[in-house]
Amino acid sequence: MATSLLSDPLADDDALDTYIYQYLRALTAHEVGHVLGLRHNFLGSTLLAPEELNDRAATRQRGLVSSVMDYFPPNLAPPDSEQGDYFPVTVGLYDQWAIEYGYRPFPQALPHQAQQQLQQIAQRSPAPELAYAADEDIWNFIDPMANAWDLQQ
Ligand SMILES: [Zn+2]
Repeated sequence: MATSLLSDPLADDDALDTYIYQYLRALTAHEVGHVLGLRHNFLGSTLLAPEELNDRAATRQRGLVSSVMDYFPPNLAPPDSEQGDYFPVTVGLYDQWAIEYGYRPFPQALPHQAQQQLQQIAQRSPAPELAYAADEDIWNFIDPMANAWDLQQ
């Protein structure tokens, strides 16, 4: 249904393969994120400005979203615009940060040293690219940016 909105919807097999591959890769990353203990993050799609969404230089460096734990629609370029990635091709900055907090080993650290290092990781949480909103946040309407199925800033 999403691809039917394209002016030249996945005209060749390579484009269709790319669309399917990117979707399966992002979906797999999302589900593996759950296996590793991550919850949904419905601010993941607020990373980029609309004009950056189809700029592969931006999306390949920072990610299309800050978290693959968001629910995001296919990224479809406006008519007469170059199509970027349809789905995230890398895990997001938030995902990397959350996994670092949960899984970074501190093999040489004493317990209090490990705790200090974890606090240093946690202190990065105010960074905009690490914004977080869980499932309950899209139902309480406090943050209008916390949404599922959007790609908006
Ligand atoms: Zn999920």
